[in-house]
Amino acid sequence: MCSISCPGHQGAGVFLKSEQKKIYKKSVCNPEKPFPQMIIIPFFDRATQIVPNCETYPKHKTALALMVFYHHWLKWFGDEDLLVKKSLEKVMIEWDTKKRKVKKGFNLEGEPRTDVTINGLTRSKTMIWVWQGNFHRIAESSLMHELVHIALRAKYGHGDADHEGSKYSGWTIEHTAMILEAKESLRSFDI
Ligand SMILES: [Zn+2]
Repeated sequence: MCSISCPGHQGAGVFLKSEQKKIYKKSVCNPEKPFPQMIIIPFFDRATQIVPNCETYPKHKTALALMVFYHHWLKWFGDEDLLVKKSLEKVMIEWDTKKRKVKKGFNLEGEPRTDVTINGLTRSKTMIWVWQGNFHRIAESSLMHELVHIALRAKYGHGDADHEGSKYSGWTIEHTAMILEAKESLRSFDI
């Protein structure tokens, strides 16, 4: 049995409990300084973002997007051992104003593709690169998608590069559905 005191049962609000450290207040984007700049994301222990300008994205928007992700992840998959929470607290998000081309990748169905233009990339167990998204909205970027890779990597040791394909395991149609739901939440916050 697990009661209210159990950390796995606190929901996404668990991040709101971390005290607002002085460092969060000092870590602000400065339009006068050269870019890219690294900014500490409030509420998430050691999470950071690298920004190409001060509009992409204000740190409170990124923090909210991470909380929205965790809320939906918990609802769909739980996080009994807190591995996903711990990963989010260490994540480094690099925002970009342009898409990128890569030699190889997999589409959502798991089919291999060459010379593809990508919206996002999970680079390591805590580092992701994300194009800013259509209409300059986090909801229209691949942030939620890349965070699923991060969460799967925390749980299974690999991020399941081929998504719903059968080459690697982990990613299911539930993960794809969770992303759609999380994006709807982001839209309701207008971020
Ligand atoms: Zn992917």
